[in-house]
Amino acid sequence: MLPDAKTKLFALIGSPIDHSFSPSMHNTSFEEKDINGCYLAFDTDEETLEDVVKSLKSLNAIGWNVTMPVKTKMAELCDELSEEAQIIGAVNTVVNQDGHLKGYSTDGIGFFRNAKENGVDVKDSSIVLVGAGGAARSIAAQAILEDVKKLTIYNRTFSKAQKLAEDLNKYTENKDIEIIAKDLSDAISLKADIDESDIFINATSVGMNPINNDSIIDPNWLREDLVVADIVYTPVKTKLEEEALKKRCKVLDGMGMVLWQGAYSFNYWTGEEFPVDLVKKKVFNID
Ligand code: NAP
Repeated sequence: MLPDAKTKLFALIGSPIDHSFSPSMHNTSFEEKDINGCYLAFDTDEETLEDVVKSLKSLNAIGWNVTMPVKTKMAELCDELSEEAQIIGAVNTVVNQDGHLKGYSTDGIGFFRNAKENGVDVKDSSIVLVGAGGAARSIAAQAILEDVKKLTIYNRTFSKAQKLAEDLNKYTENKDIEIIAKDLSDAISLKADIDESDIFINATSVGMNPINNDSIIDPNWLREDLVVADIVYTPVKTKLEEEALKKRCKVLDGMGMVLWQGAYSFNYWTGEEFPVDLVKKKVFNID
């Protein structure tokens, strides 16, 4: 449907944004669902954020996605935060209910929904997560809500893994979950933890084009009954995923997470189910 005088505004804010799949994913979904909406991207940094948010509110935007570097500052501008957004203090989705802004972080729930859709049950599982940046924090927060048994967080900058574990432990008082932070340079410990875990997650940018095409761990450490997830989605199959497939591991790719985090944003804004299969086909050319 072409935009008209009743078209509702949706947006992506952050910087850089020109590589994002979100405008194509959401505009395709509006068309499919007969929703009179238009999703645009606005380059926004920390300096311009407050003005951009004020403008979106004045224009009665229904909601917006938030990407780097304004996820944390956007959380501070929200009137209310969902459970997982409170844990990590950052948002990637905002719903504007008549000027009342509610912030969510859908990366983690999108990651675990993709796991579920691929037949992976994470309850009571033991997970090794590498990374302590924005995406890793969202996955770690959601892991608590999914009742995993053990979460071992490795990061190159150890202090960030420690800070993440500390933040998470404030929310685990009544839960039977063990959260440990470790230094990524300790390869012996990393291998031993992977040997004892059910799921391995790369939530760093290692493996992403054009930066590098490395694997974050030695592929010889992979084994058939390990679920291997890589949240990097450029390339569509990272070196880690290729090696894991060779070892016949179940592999969860980054594109699945992209799709499902968008699906949750779409649902929070519109109350409608996101047309996952259509978006896969039309936006990502995946059948
Ligand atoms: P971020 O906040 O900048 O965090 C980057 C993480 O990668 C940090 O833990 C960083 O460690 C680590 N890292 C970077 N280079 C490294 C290296 N050479 N060796 C070891 N660790 C390294 O970024 P982010 O937003 O979390 O995104 C991380 C990746 O996930 C990106 O590739 C992004 O495209 C992807 N992503 C995917 C989805 C999805 O839906 N599939 C969603 C969000 C992000 P330090 O703390 O030591 O710097």
